[in-house]
Amino acid sequence: MGPGPSNPYPEVAAALVRPVTGHLDPAFLELLDETCERLRQIFATTNALTLPLSGTGSAGMEASLVNLIDPGATVVVGVNGLFGERMAEVARRAGAAVVRVDAPWGEPLDPNALLAAHPSPTLIAMVHAETSTGVCNDVAAVGAGKADALLVVDTVTSLGGIDVRVDDWGVDVAYSCSQKCLGAPPGLAPITVSERARARLVASPRSWYLDLGLIAGYVQAGGGRTYHHTAPVTMVSALHAATGALLDEGIDAAHERHRRCGQALQDGLEQLGLTLFAPVTCRLPQLVTVVVPDDLPAGCSEADIRRKLLAEWGIEIGSGAGQLAGRVWRIGCMGNTARPRNVAALLAALGEVLGR
Ligand SMILES: *Cc1c(COP(=O)(O)O)cnc(C)c1O
Repeated sequence: MGPGPSNPYPEVAAALVRPVTGHLDPAFLELLDETCERLRQIFATTNALTLPLSGTGSAGMEASLVNLIDPGATVVVGVNGLFGERMAEVARRAGAAVVRVDAPWGEPLDPNALLAAHPSPTLIAMVHAETSTGVCNDVAAVGAGKADALLVVDTVTSLGGIDVRVDDWGVDVAYSCSQKCLGAPPGLAPITVSERARARLVASPRSWYLDLGLIAGYVQAGGGRTYHHTAPVTMVSALHAATGALLDEGIDAAHERHRRCGQALQDGLEQLGLTLFAPVTCRLPQLVTVVVPDDLPAGCSEADIRRKLLAEWGIEIGSGAGQLAGRVWRIGCMGNTARPRNVAALLAALGEVLGR
C-alpha cells in the first residue's frame, strides 16, 4: 500500500505499541497534561480548558454546542457545506432557535451576513475549513464583530494545516479531530474553551458524557482531579506523539508544507486539464476539490476511477459529499500525507487512470 490520506506521522506508530497504562497512572497524566499544552500551542491559545475530548471531530462539535445551548437559545449558524449543515442540525437537536445564514456550496460565508443575522444571538457557529467544498471561511472577521455573542468554530480540517489563531481571532470555542491535519489516528477531538465561554457553560447540558464542566475536573493539572470517564490512553498517547512531531517541525513550517503541497497539487491537476471547484481566493491547500470531468474513459464511472486509484496505486481520494455527490472529487493532502512525493504519485496515477 502506498500513502493514503490516513497515513499518520511516523512517530505515532511507536506510541501505538507502547505498553498500555492505567488512565490515572501518573505517567499517563503527565502525558495528558503535555498533550493539552501542545494543543494550546497549536490552537494559539492560553485557554486553560484545552484538551483531547474522547470521540471524533463530531463529538467536539456536539460538545461545543450542547454545553452552550439551553433550549430556546438563539444560534446563528453559517452553512456553506455539509459540515455547516451538521452544525445547524446539532444546534437544533440541542433545542436552539437556529438562524441559518447560507452561502452557495463552493462560495465562502459572508462574515457581515453572519454578524447581521440577529441582534443578540447566544452564539455564532461556523466551519473554518469546509471539507465538503474545499472552501476556507473568514473566522477573524466574525470574531472581530461578534460583540456579546460567543463564537464557536469547527477547525476539524484546518488545525495543523493552515493558520488557526484562537485568541487573536476572538474564537470562544474551537474543536478539531485527531486524524486530519494533526496526523494521528481517529478517535479524539481536541477542543479549547475561552474563559468567557467557560463562564457561560450551561448548568445542565443535554449530554452527560460530553459535559465540559464535568470533564474539566478530570483534565485539570495537579491535585484535585476528579474521575469522569476513562480516557482512551492509547489514543492520547498517539496524539501526544503526533502533536510532538508537528511542534518539532514547527507550526509555521507545517503550514508552509501544506501550502506548497496544496499548490503543487492544484497546479498539477490544472495541467491535467481538470477544473478546480473552489474559487482560488478561498481555496484550501489541504483539501482540494476537483470537478469530475465529463469525458471519463469509456465505461468508467467516477467511482471506478477512485477504486482504480486505491486498488492499483494505493491512493485514496474522496467522493463528493451531500449536494456535490458525483460532481467532485475531494483530494486530501493533510498532516503527514502532505508530502511532495504523495502529490507526484497522485498526479501520475490520476493522469494514467484518466488516460490524460
Ligand atoms: C471530518 C469533519 C468533521 C467530522 O469529524 P469526524 O472526526 O469524522 O467525526 C466535522 N467537521 C468538519 C469540517 C470535518 O471535515
